[in-house]
Amino acid sequence: MGRIVRVINGDASVVCSAIDGKDIVARIEEINKSSAVCTAALGRLALGASLMGFGLKNEGDTVTVRTDGGGPAGTLIAVADSYGNVKAYIQNPVVELPLNAKGKLDVGGAVGTDGTLTVIKDLGMKQPYSGQVPLVSGEIAEDITQYLAVSEQVPSVCALGVLVNPDLSVRCAGGFLLQLLPFAPEDAVDVIEANIAKMKPVTEMLENGMTAEDIAMLALEGLKPEKLDDFEVNYVCDCSRERTERMLISLGKKELEELAQDEKTEVCCNFCDKKYVFTADEIKALAEQKPEPQE
Ligand SMILES: [Zn+2]
Repeated sequence: MGRIVRVINGDASVVCSAIDGKDIVARIEEINKSSAVCTAALGRLALGASLMGFGLKNEGDTVTVRTDGGGPAGTLIAVADSYGNVKAYIQNPVVELPLNAKGKLDVGGAVGTDGTLTVIKDLGMKQPYSGQVPLVSGEIAEDITQYLAVSEQVPSVCALGVLVNPDLSVRCAGGFLLQLLPFAPEDAVDVIEANIAKMKPVTEMLENGMTAEDIAMLALEGLKPEKLDDFEVNYVCDCSRERTERMLISLGKKELEELAQDEKTEVCCNFCDKKYVFTADEIKALAEQKPEPQE
């Protein structure tokens, strides 16, 4: 189980959320049997989405973060709720690339930079809010920072890290998202800049035994930081047989009658390792149901 925390400064003008998401990224690796660079890429995106989701106000709100960078990993999607629980999908989970110039997993190379980062916030309104920015580096944290600065006009610092063992298991994974509200005093900005400059990379801090809370506290050191929230956070997929049935019904009678010619139809969830199996008779029964009206 992962941990997500929120820390604020004395006048609540600076907020920092931090996550220890090793188990979330381990689950991503388990579901996708992904290569190291893809585990790192999707892990970072999932943790970034989790931190953004954790900032949403209401139960039922969700945030979807998607990259379409034209890289060999294809499209990556992560969906998080307001507790930071997250699910994620990668089009091509097995991509092998040489290490980048810094000797690290080449996440930017796998994701690509020829495209966009899209954020869709479903806040229970009629229309979800959506924003898009060109990808800066495909390294994810930088792209999320850019999105928040440009699209939401919130100065932010985002850092995300995933360390993968040689046997492809996840050694550690985490990140933080620090945001400055408009009334943040100038000297708070200076303190934060100095704090960020002396902070080690996230994976190194986690390797040294620091918790999510320690990391968030360190980012706000000198600003009278206080812990506001502290929750368990998990990889959660909300798929179900009922949802799968509704999806099948929406295909229409003709399509379903064709599927019913096979002895059984197997539907795999994009976000987890669940498979839903339907017999020909079950498919025929679904073919007789009317699709629900869609807006
Ligand atoms: Zn699922």
